[in-house]
Amino acid sequence: TIIVVGSLNMDLVVRAPRHPQPGETLIGSDFQIFPGGKGANQAVAAARLGARVRMIGRVGVDAFGDALLDAAQYDGVDTGYVQRDPDAATGVALITLDAHGQNTIVVALGANMRVSEADVQRAEALFQGADVLLMQLECPLDAVMAATELAHRYGVQVVLNPAPARPLPVALLSQIDYLLPNQLELQALAEGETDLTAAIERLQRQGVRNLLVTLGSEGALLATAEQTTTVPAFQVPVVDTVAAGDAFAGAFCVALAEGKPPLEAVRWGNAAGALAVTRAGAQPSLPSRMEVMRLLEV
Ligand code: ADP
Repeated sequence: TIIVVGSLNMDLVVRAPRHPQPGETLIGSDFQIFPGGKGANQAVAAARLGARVRMIGRVGVDAFGDALLDAAQYDGVDTGYVQRDPDAATGVALITLDAHGQNTIVVALGANMRVSEADVQRAEALFQGADVLLMQLECPLDAVMAATELAHRYGVQVVLNPAPARPLPVALLSQIDYLLPNQLELQALAEGETDLTAAIERLQRQGVRNLLVTLGSEGALLATAEQTTTVPAFQVPVVDTVAAGDAFAGAFCVALAEGKPPLEAVRWGNAAGALAVTRAGAQPSLPSRMEVMRLLEV
């Protein structure tokens, strides 16, 4: 079982010829609504690969909340511990795509910002017998810390995808089994250090045990106390890189939960990430177990 503590957002996407100036109204087109949020995306990524996934989070008592719960459940995610919050709106991301496919995004996290320590403690029963706790940073740090503590009490491995990046207390960093940033998030966590090796060393000095950095088309790098290993990406045609990181995180956790060795789990992450970039969208692009197995065998 994988527990995900994280966000659920509705992505509201419009196309426009270009991005508007302040005060300007533009006529856009092709409005679409997609379920999203890093928490929900990673939960769905893991569920599509056959894991039992249980999510802790919050949505509002509104239509977007209904739709997000339906979408997660459709993919087999257990949302029994996603609270309906009568005092906050469901999280939304307002996304504008220009003619070149460049996006600007404004996220109003809403109910996600009210996920609390108490929400996590109420779900304590989930931690007993669970294999992996997977989290991101689109909900309050208090909840992340509380979940990390419970995971330790029950012997559950902790994977933290520090996205969006923000400074993290050393007390938390040292309790994470796998810290999983992309290159930009690593740089931010390492106080702007742009050199990969130096950034890794800085975080290791802060007590991070296993640092797993995704490197886009270069694959991923796993730095443990003993050694640093780069696992190359699978070569695929790139259509849309949205949700590659989410696919990677979900797949890595599924393999870990199944007891696969860490470097094998990184290959699973690379396979799912590669498949996600061959297709458009976030949750629609997340691969099935059969697709990942097929890519891993070649
Ligand atoms: P994020 O989506 O968070 O920015 P990355 O860009 O590092 O993260 O991508 C996550 C993972 O997805 C990579 O580690 C890799 O496995 C896979 N991936 C991303 N881009 C490509 C690509 N162009 N070709 C193959 N695999 C890719």
